[in-house]
Amino acid sequence: MATRNPRPSSAADVVVVGAGAAGLYAALCAARERASVLLVSATPLAQTASYWAQGGLAAALAEDDSFELHLKDTERAGRELVRRSAAEILVREAPDCVRDLEALGVRFDADRFGQLALGLEGGHSVRRVVHAGGSATGRRVVRQLSALAVEEPRITVLEGTRARALWMHAGRCRGLICEDGRILAARAIVLSTGGAAALWGHTTNPPGSVGGGLLLAHAAGAQLADLELLQFHPTAVTGVPGREGFLVTEAIRGEGATLHDASGERFVEELAPRDEVSQAIQISLEASGARSVGLDMRAIDPAHFPNVVASLREAGLDPARELIPVAPAAHYMMGGIVVDLHARSSLPGLYAVGESSCTGLHGANRLASNSLSECFVFARRAISSALSEPAPGEPSAAAAELRELSCEPAIPAAEPSTRAALWRDAGILRTGEGLSRLLDDPHPLARLIARSALARTESRGAHRRRDFPERDPRLDHRHVLVGAGESISWQTWS
Ligand SMILES: Cc1cc2nc3c(=O)[nH]c(=O)nc-3n(C[C@H](O)[C@H](O)[C@H](O)COP(=O)(O)OP(=O)(O)OC[C@H]3O[C@@H](n4cnc5c(N)ncnc54)[C@H](O)[C@@H]3O)c2cc1C
Repeated sequence: MATRNPRPSSAADVVVVGAGAAGLYAALCAARERASVLLVSATPLAQTASYWAQGGLAAALAEDDSFELHLKDTERAGRELVRRSAAEILVREAPDCVRDLEALGVRFDADRFGQLALGLEGGHSVRRVVHAGGSATGRRVVRQLSALAVEEPRITVLEGTRARALWMHAGRCRGLICEDGRILAARAIVLSTGGAAALWGHTTNPPGSVGGGLLLAHAAGAQLADLELLQFHPTAVTGVPGREGFLVTEAIRGEGATLHDASGERFVEELAPRDEVSQAIQISLEASGARSVGLDMRAIDPAHFPNVVASLREAGLDPARELIPVAPAAHYMMGGIVVDLHARSSLPGLYAVGESSCTGLHGANRLASNSLSECFVFARRAISSALSEPAPGEPSAAAAELRELSCEPAIPAAEPSTRAALWRDAGILRTGEGLSRLLDDPHPLARLIARSALARTESRGAHRRRDFPERDPRLDHRHVLVGAGESISWQTWS
């Protein structure tokens, strides 16, 4: 099918696709370098995962913290799969990104001495999570960055515009084709389209997090990796109408909230890394037949987490008096578009940052609050490299060329049947039989996830197979790569 109504439109230095934390910051970094930016976003701000982020961003800023400690915690959580070079960059550069965000006007919470107040979350050996408005970090950050982006004359915001395909020419990504037919040409395209956890039936994510950017990149020939590695958050509200999947931040467990099984007993170390806590909850639910475990936050000061407490109260739950019913839900895609340490994908001119990318730094289990930090650290790196790409082509030439090119829509809708199938067959505890069923799913990303999960014949981090319950040391530091079509191969990253 030829592209319908290709419309020659604009050229800019950079096209950024997605206006969550990663995309907004990338756009602002580019504008600071006097570059012109087209910022494309399908959904309104309040529907980005970034806006929903609660806990905060991890950075080794405390006196009792260090580069070595943050790196060690990241690697320990990641289960022998963390790409060390990427994790080192994150840990080294996150503190500077926090300072830059402050300079951009983001007001993080301070303690009574005026120092940054740091939260504690699972897997962290010290307090290192910078937050804003208690547990309203994402909202505060996104609001500030988007206000700056809207006011910045070098940034043109195209809200309500959905990417449909990448414009490839002579092996290089030269632009973006939007669903309305507009063609945006640039030196570099930066995909910051978020994760894919909303493809699962139970999720903490907004409905748009269905891996659209991954499919665009894959359709253009870029490599994807680690798609079997999907983190399940242990404490999403369940069984409460209107609040299904609402996340109760781990920072609340950091302040002492506890988890209780059907008989009221504690059954897991609440601040263990997320893979351990989610799997322990799942096993407890299967043993008791219950739908949820209880989160006891009665001893927590509601003033520290005002938006969480308000949301629970609106749903008729009183966290000061009763246990909150929670269960794991799909939360964060560790896999994504393979990028190098400057966020460059395997296709020249195409970059990916934030949750749509796979830097490898999260390994098989992301350390809590490392993802927002990753958005900022790698968005900045992407821009410093993107601006030295060759000047963009003429969009009018692109329009003529695209009339001849095939351009099937690359992003199908996530049907309820696919979401149910992924939850059932690629959930917290998986089997080869269930994963094989997914190979017939109509959704291309569901099939790629299944192929990747079938290839990893072991249990590691967030990927747990009943038929391969042990970690296979031969697969340490080995990543499952998805190439052209549905081809699978293995790669070691340093
Ligand atoms: C409830 C919740 C709480 C969280 N809490 C934390 C936390 O405390 N700390 C932490 O580090 N991480 C947290 N995370 C994870 C973190 O928020 C995300 O990993 C991060 O915000 C992702 O940012 P992003 O910019 O990559 O993508 P997003 O914020 O998801 O933004 C994606 C953007 O891409 C756009 N888009 C998507 N597809 C298309 C398309 N085809 N065309 C055009 N635009 C498109 C969307 O409209 C959107 O603007 C949390 C996640 C959730 C869901």
